[in-house]
Amino acid sequence: MRNATTQLVRATPTQVLRGLTLPSAQSSPTPHVRCTACDTQLRAGAPITAPAYRLTQTREWVIPRVYCRRCGPETCPQPTRGAVDVLVTGTLATISDATTQTHALCVTTLEPIAVSPPTEGSAP
Ligand SMILES: [Zn+2]
Repeated sequence: MRNATTQLVRATPTQVLRGLTLPSAQSSPTPHVRCTACDTQLRAGAPITAPAYRLTQTREWVIPRVYCRRCGPETCPQPTRGAVDVLVTGTLATISDATTQTHALCVTTLEPIAVSPPTEGSAP
């Protein structure tokens, strides 16, 4: 289901999104995030749906929250003016930092579902 503010992606942002770590992830006892909607614990290997955005002033993509596949929205929630919003599905994976001996969660095998260009939506 799509509405007028979303459209399928042809040139995808998945290359920059792939491997992006999730700021909301907890590192212990094992790296995980929780579904924003149902609080299910999601670990490496779990399929997820997540909105992501990039403010046009910066080149940094942000994945503010993560949903399990069951709760994932089907369109970009609340398109933001001045930002590129995308909705992606993917799989969680663990990346390890050998220097600091820490593990973080990132998203792999991304697939965009919908995108909202920066010219649409309401003011942030
Ligand atoms: Zn959920």
